[in-house]
Amino acid sequence: MGVSKSDAIIIVGGGAFGLSTALHLSRKGYTNVAVFERDDHIPPRYSAANDLNKIVRAEYEDPFYTELTIQAIAEWKTPLFAPHFHQAGFLHCVSGDAPQKAIDTLNRFRASAERDAQIKPHVSSLDGEADIRQIAWQLDGPLPGWNGYFNRFDGYAHSANALAAVYRATQGAGVRFFLGEQGAVDEIVYVSTVNGRNCAGIRTKNGQFHSAALVIVAAGAGAGRLVPQLGQQVVAKSWSVAHVHLTDNETSRLRGIPVTYARDLGFFFEPDPKTNLLKLCPMGGGYINTDPKTGVSHSPGTLSDSAFIPEEDETQIRKLLAHTLPSLADRPLVKRSLCWFADTNDSDFIIDYVPDMGSSLMLLSGDSGHGFKMFPIVGSWVTDLLEASDDKQSLVRWRWKQPNAKAGQDWGGDVSWRLGASKELSSIMPRKASKL
Ligand SMILES: Cc1cc2nc3c(=O)[nH]c(=O)nc-3n(C[C@H](O)[C@H](O)[C@H](O)COP(=O)(O)OP(=O)(O)OC[C@H]3O[C@@H](n4cnc5c(N)ncnc54)[C@H](O)[C@@H]3O)c2cc1C
Repeated sequence: MGVSKSDAIIIVGGGAFGLSTALHLSRKGYTNVAVFERDDHIPPRYSAANDLNKIVRAEYEDPFYTELTIQAIAEWKTPLFAPHFHQAGFLHCVSGDAPQKAIDTLNRFRASAERDAQIKPHVSSLDGEADIRQIAWQLDGPLPGWNGYFNRFDGYAHSANALAAVYRATQGAGVRFFLGEQGAVDEIVYVSTVNGRNCAGIRTKNGQFHSAALVIVAAGAGAGRLVPQLGQQVVAKSWSVAHVHLTDNETSRLRGIPVTYARDLGFFFEPDPKTNLLKLCPMGGGYINTDPKTGVSHSPGTLSDSAFIPEEDETQIRKLLAHTLPSLADRPLVKRSLCWFADTNDSDFIIDYVPDMGSSLMLLSGDSGHGFKMFPIVGSWVTDLLEASDDKQSLVRWRWKQPNAKAGQDWGGDVSWRLGASKELSSIMPRKASKL
């Protein structure tokens, strides 16, 4: 056990993993915790979780994550989180054109849901449009060949609002926040010791040094820049997000629809009643931004580089709408962006100390695009690790892996639920208007 309850602990990143960690540390009585976030407000615009909604579905092909999500859902129903959790159900299908890989994945998810005694009673099969309209009459499109299942145990969380709630709660509990210029961490600072080097703290963009007994890097897709030792263990990757702006009546009509997901096309959520935005995400292999010198993918430095979606994703979103809500299929898509996350090739998180640093530097990363549902419990994994008598991550799958161990593999295809290969950001960037 490296740190005492009064030692200085710095968390880098005020997104989902960082805020959850701040919450659990303060609940466990750690009194000297500070969060450094490069944006000047929380929810931060750079956080993958700064969004209207994220799916909270319990069935995973891997029962390990199913069990964790069941725990997380129980926490989503507690007072701090409950206002942001909506157990609207998960309508999980494939369309009639789906490739075999999507069908197989759907079937494994269904089998997982039916295997679990807690989830099973909430699951029903959907065989065609009539069954689907029994669940969501509002889906008045042709739903060609759609089939799958409905799981009432699942739903979604309003992720930006959940981040804001935990920010307020932790601030109230004495966690200090450094935002914007003061919070943007430029580098991890190391000191030499007889055993090598330890982490001594951080330096922010404005040149300030902050010392700490423990630095926890929870920087999402930005982790590789701060901890280059990560190498290709983590790949900064993005997926497209876009919205349709509805009228009040349209929002009202769609109230209560489940998360609607076609594995081969994409998914959408109940519209947000405050903004009237219907959020849509296409399915695909995602986009990476590889530095040719190192072979490591980083998220772009500015938000404007991600303020678009590629044409192929727009086409797919419109196809999804044509199948389900055809009156919206030709409407403008607004608030388009690429949303960046930290991917590992086995889709496992990394919750571990950086090796050979005397337990002074911890990394929370590799959310792999499925981490937000765990928001209420992520921080408990950190306090478990802090309290481990041997300073070791007991879960092998969450340990730091040897950098470059699996370099050169196709990161899009390794995990069965990912459909399609990743493309480089440079190949999809819209051409800038000529200045001539
Ligand atoms: C399109 C999309 C859809 C998703 N859908 C789902 C879903 O349906 N269900 C689900 O469970 N999960 C989903 N996710 C994944 C979820 O959003 C992530 O798992 C989660 O946000 C990861 O949390 P994080 O804290 O690791 O990273 P983030 O939430 O991205 O936070 C990282 C924070 O670190 C800050 N930071 C980075 N570098 C620095 C620095 N140098 N100094 C200071 N601060 C820094 C950033 O500004 C950011 O605020 C989705 C992700 C994407 C992209």
